[in-house]
Amino acid sequence: MLLLDSHPSGRHFLQIPGPTNVPDRVLRAIDQATIDHRGPEFAALTKAVIAGMKKVFKTDADVVIYSASGTGAWEAALVNTLSQGDRVLMAETGHFAALWKRLAERLGLSVTLLPGDWRHGVSAVDIEAALRADAQHSIKAVCVVHNETSTGVTSRIPELRAAIDRAGHPALFMVDTISSLASIDYRHDEWRVDVTVGGSQKGLMLPPGLSFNAISAKALAASKKAKLPRSYWDWNEMLSINASGYFPYTPATNLLYGLHEALDMLESEGLDRVFARHSRLAEATRRAVRAWGLEILCAEPAEYSSTLTGVVLPAGHNADTFRKIVLDRFDMSLGQGLGKVAGKIFRIGHLGYFNDLMLCGTLAGVEMGLGLAAVPHRKGGAQAAMDYLAETAAAELARAA
Ligand SMILES: *Cc1c(COP(=O)(O)O)cnc(C)c1O
Repeated sequence: MLLLDSHPSGRHFLQIPGPTNVPDRVLRAIDQATIDHRGPEFAALTKAVIAGMKKVFKTDADVVIYSASGTGAWEAALVNTLSQGDRVLMAETGHFAALWKRLAERLGLSVTLLPGDWRHGVSAVDIEAALRADAQHSIKAVCVVHNETSTGVTSRIPELRAAIDRAGHPALFMVDTISSLASIDYRHDEWRVDVTVGGSQKGLMLPPGLSFNAISAKALAASKKAKLPRSYWDWNEMLSINASGYFPYTPATNLLYGLHEALDMLESEGLDRVFARHSRLAEATRRAVRAWGLEILCAEPAEYSSTLTGVVLPAGHNADTFRKIVLDRFDMSLGQGLGKVAGKIFRIGHLGYFNDLMLCGTLAGVEMGLGLAAVPHRKGGAQAAMDYLAETAAAELARAA
């Protein structure tokens, strides 16, 4: 139902934190004839995209690509490394952490959950204490979400790695980077992560449908002993066939064309510049939220997410009513509150194929929507963001001169 009799023209604003806007270049790459996945051209494509993904994960270790949503790669990480009844340590950062926990429990794993308030990242102190208390080393894996997409909070992975090391605990370290990979700095090898989980539809700028595991040598060794049943997700079969450039089953050929193109775009911009672009657009967004007089859900500035911002609406105002007005009137999708914060917050996605003016349009739509929905706020958020974007652009120009 339309609020007003509008006839959408121009581009839809897809400002949810994934799926993100797919660049035209990637769409054109996908729109090519599907080739023989057992032919010679295909092997070159597989090798190129795996090599490109290693650069994005910052790893020299193995990377596998699944034709699956991110949830599939979550499952793959667990079934390849663990056995029925194994203890797993997880942290309640938000809705995605809760979903990964539910998946682990359905697989027959025994999850110990560190409670959280959905406004902070994973606590290194709590991780260290839980591991120190486990003198028997019954915990086999520590699984955390790097960027909690339901809240806009980014956990500090190097601090968690250091906590595991201080406890002297041998558990595998697994990190979900589905909404941070290729947007926020991440280093699989340097941070000694054992399994990193990624997905195609967020920072990688692709449609949904691909997901990834980066696999340390320690995780690969664990997979030789792990007893959870697995077939489709089995790393060892995948890796042995990938070595010659093929897959054990029919891969998502056209999405791989898109991945090749997206990796090319990331490489030409340079990952460091991609990260800086995200952090600048995120800061501009937060300035808008503060100028509106609204609250940012993330309570710890050192954990602000560069890929999305969760915004709390004043009590008595439903965030989904506001989002519906923005969608109907301005043809813009904003992220809904999930789980515990449903109806209380909305999320602004500012990741992937995104720039200054797309952010200005997004924030203008939010500001006008706040007015239409009669949410108490001050005007001038979009202007505050513009001021920051212009200031930082001027500083960049001066540096370049
Ligand atoms: C999007 C997302 C997922 C879920 O991925 P699907 O592709 O929907 O299965 C998991 N974790 C995080 C952090 C995400 O952002």
